[in-house]
Amino acid sequence: MQAAEHVTPPVAARPMTDNFRLAALHRYHILDSPACDDFSFLTELAARLCNMPYACVSLVDADRVWVKAATGMQLDQLPRHDSYSSLVVLGAANLEIPDLACDPRTAHMALTVTAPFMRYYSGVALVSSDGFAIGTLCVLDTKPGCLDDAQRATLVGLARQVMALIELRASEKTLSATARELEQLATTDELTGLHNRRSLLHRLRFEIARARRFRVPVSAVMVDLDYFKRINDDFGHADGDRVLAAVGRLVREHVRAVDIAGRYGGEELCLILPNTSLEGALHFAESLRLRIAAQTHEIGSGTLTITASLGVGTVDHFDAADAESLLRQADAALYRAKRGGRNRVEGPATERHP
Ligand code: GH3
Ligand code: MG
Ligand code: MG
Repeated sequence: MQAAEHVTPPVAARPMTDNFRLAALHRYHILDSPACDDFSFLTELAARLCNMPYACVSLVDADRVWVKAATGMQLDQLPRHDSYSSLVVLGAANLEIPDLACDPRTAHMALTVTAPFMRYYSGVALVSSDGFAIGTLCVLDTKPGCLDDAQRATLVGLARQVMALIELRASEKTLSATARELEQLATTDELTGLHNRRSLLHRLRFEIARARRFRVPVSAVMVDLDYFKRINDDFGHADGDRVLAAVGRLVREHVRAVDIAGRYGGEELCLILPNTSLEGALHFAESLRLRIAAQTHEIGSGTLTITASLGVGTVDHFDAADAESLLRQADAALYRAKRGGRNRVEGPATERHP
């Protein structure tokens, strides 16, 4: 009986430090990023100045080579063992192969033996700031050839430009992530995760302006927890904080994406409901009241519940109201809810005629 033929899949040779090299590559967050004209411009320049029909920027990932930009061909990615660039990252800063079909390292590779039947390759390593070759800028041809000294120097210079662009894009990404983080810190109340007062008022003014412009109503709901002081007195301030944070979470989960929920101060929250009539806002406030009352809080060895009083205010586009008067309305309604016995929702006072 004949033994079954054992076929091992081809594996690309890897440098000893491949894990560190991959970590360096992944730090740039460039793999699978969208196409970008700036990189294509550099491959076009490389092809033109080296007088070659093909050029590409490719990055050598764990098992594939991903192409960031290519001139003269459409190429997204290749298996690592099938790519010329994987040879460059093995160590040499530059690699020139005058005839790919005659070199034992490349004669079998897909681009050599199938269309477009590449014959010439010259690649320069893209070296990360910590010294690892993460990919290449290369030029290729379908006939054997060579570059002159000036073209070689040009390709090295352009590879540096490609790397500078990769660094720049990574810095821009870090910078915008930091800016987003700072914005988040500056506008968020740490305890409840809701907008802080400054951010809430800022958004409210914006929503009022928008409501006027688009002729839609905007409502505000003021929420004050009932007898909250007792929780602090009975269980301590830290447990009080925990209850407040849980109510903040509940509110965050309950509002629509367009609503703005903020901590107005202490244990008083405020919700801005864009494009919402008084009727809609009263309905929303009532459902929030029920949810707050139904929420249980594990404090110490027991469980407690808490209620809230809510006041609703609304402005229509034909009201000459501003942010302050909307808040005054909601605050006055909240005051009535407290006076009326707490754990209830009140809207604007109805005018009484004698
Ligand atoms: P009610 O609103 O029903 O009239 O009674 P209350 O006990 O809630 O009274 P009030 O709203 O006047 O007082 C709020 C209390 O909430 C006072 C303060 O000790 C407490 N408080 C405010 N901010 C915080 C906070 O960040 N953490 C904790 N633990 N307590 C807070
Ligand atoms: Mg209170
Ligand atoms: Mg209060």
